[in-house]
Amino acid sequence: MRIAFGGIHTECSTYSRIRSRVQDFRVLRANALRQSCAFQFLNRYPHEFVPTLHARAVPGGPVERATYELFKAEFLELLKTTLPVDGVYLAMHGAMFVEGMHDAEGDWIEATRSIVGEACPVSASYDLHGNLSKRIIDNLDMLSAYRTAPHIDVEETGIRACNMLIHCLENKLRPGLIWVPIPVLMPGEKSSTEDQPAKRLYAQLENIDKHAGVLDASLLVGYVWADEPRSTASAVLTVSNKDSASEQLAITLAQQYWDARQEFDFGGVRTGSIAECLDWAAEAGTKPVILADSGDNPTGGGVGDRAEVLEHLLRRSFRSALVAGIADPPATNACYAAGEGATLRLSIGATLDPEGSQPVITETRVVFLAKTDEPSERQAVISINGVTVVLTSRRRPFHHIRDFTSLGLSIESFHLLVVKSGYLSPDLAPLAKLNLMTLSDGAVNQDIEGLPANQFRPPTFPFNRNLQWTPSAVWSARS
Ligand SMILES: [Zn+2]
Repeated sequence: MRIAFGGIHTECSTYSRIRSRVQDFRVLRANALRQSCAFQFLNRYPHEFVPTLHARAVPGGPVERATYELFKAEFLELLKTTLPVDGVYLAMHGAMFVEGMHDAEGDWIEATRSIVGEACPVSASYDLHGNLSKRIIDNLDMLSAYRTAPHIDVEETGIRACNMLIHCLENKLRPGLIWVPIPVLMPGEKSSTEDQPAKRLYAQLENIDKHAGVLDASLLVGYVWADEPRSTASAVLTVSNKDSASEQLAITLAQQYWDARQEFDFGGVRTGSIAECLDWAAEAGTKPVILADSGDNPTGGGVGDRAEVLEHLLRRSFRSALVAGIADPPATNACYAAGEGATLRLSIGATLDPEGSQPVITETRVVFLAKTDEPSERQAVISINGVTVVLTSRRRPFHHIRDFTSLGLSIESFHLLVVKSGYLSPDLAPLAKLNLMTLSDGAVNQDIEGLPANQFRPPTFPFNRNLQWTPSAVWSARS
């Protein structure tokens, strides 16, 4: 069998003023796509998986329309060259927002369908922070979403999506989707699957898979920072036959999510203003304290260029703190021009979105410059009165231990580590003797009920606290 694969994977805050452009995406084609780590699992199948194009960006602001159209046109051209194929596997995120569109994945998936035709099964993997629509459901045959947040089952999800596809091809099954949109939106930080209620809601999915006729059960939190008509949580089942028992399973799952809506919260993490969090960090008799600057978290769609926490640290002469990192191309380049050991006066922060925040202007010393020939990969470690800061050329998270060790930094040697993050990554969480999260301002502000200009989102909890709701199932047009 021949199965084409590709897709587009990003998450976009409609509250961000910056745009995601071509240079923000890592684009893989042909052999580079076939050989990439993310798709190594496809080599384990006895079938031929034919690469097309896969474009992936760190979450950010809306995708520039021309960038999207460019990728889509190339993807469709490459898809045409793979024909005939027995099936298609799409590796998507699900919360992309493209300028002038309200259902970007729907557009991509519908265009895929128009190339491969009605008879060709299409299976998609999705992030559980993705949003769905009738158009998406109607043009897919199978869907499988992550079951963990933080996401530690990315490959397993791809395997589930491909196993289903191959199972249906081998057994000549025509699966369908049952979708129950749930009018609830939560930030990822309140819906980690390591905390209740998400932990128990997601734990059921494996058992639902075992019901006769069910190929896959998915539960999606959705993406709250997109003011779109399709922004909701969802329960979705891929089923091999259209029966009422499967429909009832999807409805029950959705009802359970709705019933738990008041229970979603920030887990075991202590949350507060920047000042409160720095008070708690200073008082802590243990280290390292890890503080997540959540409103500016680039992996949620934040810009990642804000310097407010740094400003607070300097104002209170906080010693032994590491801030990783602040995306600031001009400041990073100035450090490279000055060289290691140099002292210079820098304006730090607010260069990607000058309207969003204020920079910190201060004397600094350049401690370390990452060796790279690629300007976008530059990282400068600087020191300011006992506070160490990593400046970066591009928007990027610091989620892995190697992100620090590659810069000669040991997290344990600092009293306080500040990262632009929501819940901590699986690498960082075990290191934190105390985990704090500041509910800071930014494009992914956790104060979701205060989000401006909610024009397109349907009535949804918690925006509409008195909402009444009864679940109803939507069957995909192809089922
Ligand atoms: Zn996600």
